Amino acid sequence: MSKPFSIAIHGGAGTILREKMTQELQDEFLHQLEKSLRAGHKVLAQGGSAVDAVVSAVTVMEDSPLFNAGKGAVMTSKEMVEMDASIMDGQDHNVGAIAGVQHIKNPIHLARQVMQDSEHVFLIGEGAEAFAFDNGYAFTEQDYFFTERRYEQLLRMKQAQGFALSESEYPDDDKHGTVGAVALDQQGNLAAATSTGGVTNKQYGRVGDSPIIGAGTYAENGNVAVSCTGMGEFFIRKMVAGDVAARMRYLQEDIATACDTIIQGELKRIGGEGGLVAMDAQGQAHFSMNSSGMYRGAIDTVGNLTVKIYSDE
Ligand code: ASP
Repeated sequence: MSKPFSIAIHGGAGTILREKMTQELQDEFLHQLEKSLRAGHKVLAQGGSAVDAVVSAVTVMEDSPLFNAGKGAVMTSKEMVEMDASIMDGQDHNVGAIAGVQHIKNPIHLARQVMQDSEHVFLIGEGAEAFAFDNGYAFTEQDYFFTERRYEQLLRMKQAQGFALSESEYPDDDKHGTVGAVALDQQGNLAAATSTGGVTNKQYGRVGDSPIIGAGTYAENGNVAVSCTGMGEFFIRKMVAGDVAARMRYLQEDIATACDTIIQGELKRIGGEGGLVAMDAQGQAHFSMNSSGMYRGAIDTVGNLTVKIYSDE
């Protein structure tokens, strides 16, 4: 009999309201979440690594225009995309992260490449892209990432002179989000991955929590794997992913207590909106959010698949 394995994902948190969601869009989200979960689960079922599983799951969402990562990334104030991503292998604490890349179709692949084939753990902008092209990545034109919806969203946000989560209710209510995955493989290894376009109308050069290990992403064998989504400025201040791991490690809190204490307490107290997906060493997933919704799903250790959107589900 195979050892337990499991995967869980998120496709972004924010103000997601039933009354503003069409049936068609909702179905499409649920379909993409399921597709992502099945891609990651297949890797695990075949005995593959948690690292490969989270990359497979995230790749599906990066390739969909629905989510704020890869193809569907939001735009900066300069009407460009700048994407961030990170990955952590819980087995050896190895990490790879990139920020501010503009011509990479699947940022999560590059984050893994940095982890596996670079002497460094975090590359940004031009240097990250130079490393990518040296390793055979194709140059992807900005046009590939351009979607009418993202452009309209940017124009509305510019008018409001603000910046916001892609799932922000005001002034735009298009439903898209940062993506992430956590997994436990049959060898008992945990991994976490996160990929994002950031926040709409961000100052160019701005980096959020997603590529920052300990803020948006963390994984540690025998303990927990975490991927966050929400207003990065707050997740960085509260070192959310690392703090979940620390609470479980030092206080022996269970996964639900550790996650909810931070998301509903510490983070909310300083005005931080968002959520996370976490997985413990037994493959039990937990979702925590203080926003009205978070696209999310899991395939648990007995193979049950669930996909959800709203916080009251
Ligand atoms: N955490 C991301 C950032 O701040 C945004 C998101 O989760 O939608 O860049």
